[in-house]
Amino acid sequence: TASALKDIISHAKEYGFVFPSSEIYDGLQAVYDYGQNGVELKNNLKNVWYKAMTMLNDNVVGLDAAIFMHPLTWKASGHVDSFNDPMIDNKDSKKRYRADTLLEERAAALEDEGKATEAKALMQAMAKGLDAGDLEAVRQLIIDQNIKCPVSGTANWTEVRQFNLMFSTQVGAVSEDASLIYLRPETAQGIFVNFLNVQKTGRMKVPFGIAQIGKAFRNEIVARNFIFRMREFEQMEMQFFVRPGTEMEWYNTWKETRMKFHQAIGLPADSLKFHDHDKLAHYANAAVDIEYKFPFGFKEMEGIHSRTDFDLKAHQELSKKKQQYFDPEINQNYIPYVVETSVGADRLFLAILCNAYTEETTGEGETLKQRVYLNIHPALAPTKVAVLPLVKKDGLAEKAQEITNQLKFAFNTTYDDGGAIGKRYTRQDLIGTPYCVVVDYQTMEDQTVTVRDRNTMTQERISIADLKEKLGYAVSM
Ligand code: ATP
Repeated sequence: TASALKDIISHAKEYGFVFPSSEIYDGLQAVYDYGQNGVELKNNLKNVWYKAMTMLNDNVVGLDAAIFMHPLTWKASGHVDSFNDPMIDNKDSKKRYRADTLLEERAAALEDEGKATEAKALMQAMAKGLDAGDLEAVRQLIIDQNIKCPVSGTANWTEVRQFNLMFSTQVGAVSEDASLIYLRPETAQGIFVNFLNVQKTGRMKVPFGIAQIGKAFRNEIVARNFIFRMREFEQMEMQFFVRPGTEMEWYNTWKETRMKFHQAIGLPADSLKFHDHDKLAHYANAAVDIEYKFPFGFKEMEGIHSRTDFDLKAHQELSKKKQQYFDPEINQNYIPYVVETSVGADRLFLAILCNAYTEETTGEGETLKQRVYLNIHPALAPTKVAVLPLVKKDGLAEKAQEITNQLKFAFNTTYDDGGAIGKRYTRQDLIGTPYCVVVDYQTMEDQTVTVRDRNTMTQERISIADLKEKLGYAVSM
């Protein structure tokens, strides 16, 4: 429900996960900053993904390509000519909308009214118009359906125009002839243009992959749903280069591997599903999304695409540099086919947060207790362990500090002696810390501490000497 997302947004802000960008100036639409806990969670997420790609697969290596690229890159990739959204403006409110979103929402409303056939016909007519580039036909559908602007309440629409989603800027001194360049709208092209560099210097043999994490920028018009759709975001992409004809095999392999990954980091199987594309992008011969059940519905989190040789071939044509690989097994030169897995770090972050946010009621009557905690996989949690002295006096604080110093080189450990112990547990629950280590009077006698589990709230006594190993095991993947 919508209210659940609202709770998550305010929780994310209140506990240092995500802040609106430049908030003191009232923010910047569709741009967000990650706070002290958010950055830890996001870094953990990126590390787990990167390791899953490069360490678990001996034929996948990393790359960190620049955000700026030669402008012809985006000509070759098709982004200059076809990375567009059809936009329509309302003449009264001067608000701009995505024409396809207006029609999709209308179709959803028709469906709710039980007019499924009409809804389907509308979507088909829209797809036909967009495919043919007939923007007037798309506008006519909006007029025929009498779709009104949510702000002005009128149906006074302009024509439909294609709007390119790439941000551009100038390189070089302004006075000289500076040339127009783009902020990359996807990280994938940095991988394609380095395909031969990596293949040759790494002596890579097809099939092999290149994985990369980095910022991407899109001038999204309909920016909604918090960090789900941002203008500046981060992608985790992997391009897997294969021998032509074997791409479907690899496509299916990666599909399954990626689904397993999401489950391994704690997303429940029933909140994930595959969604096959009916309509394929210009570069793909098969495409599927992994969708997560966000509070606003099942929505794309990751895309897995069989991109054929579209990109490398286009780069070969435009750069006049051969993008071929000599396959010693079959004694042939060819441009490899590519299977891509592309997941948004921010969308995955949002999925983790939505899944983790737990409101719990225990007991009844006098013992009734309500709490909120984040059920984040321990390996992803911003802080792994909080060390808490029961009281500050009698050497307990010093002992707790000593334990903190022993653990903090192994994993993220914090020390907290502020306020009642219950309050301190709550603080850790709210940011998803899986374990609280408490130093009490017994500690001073037998060198044991209690370890409290975030989810079950149960406590176990263990020896200080075993802490590092036991907790280290519990907080790893
Ligand atoms: P959508 O249909 O939601 O706009 P897309 O199909 O254009 O997404 P891709 O180009 O396949 O997305 O990008 C791969 C991944 O990058 C997406 O699955 C998503 O996780 C992430 N992503 C894309 N656009 C954004 C954005 N504006 N904000 C945050 N993440 C994004």
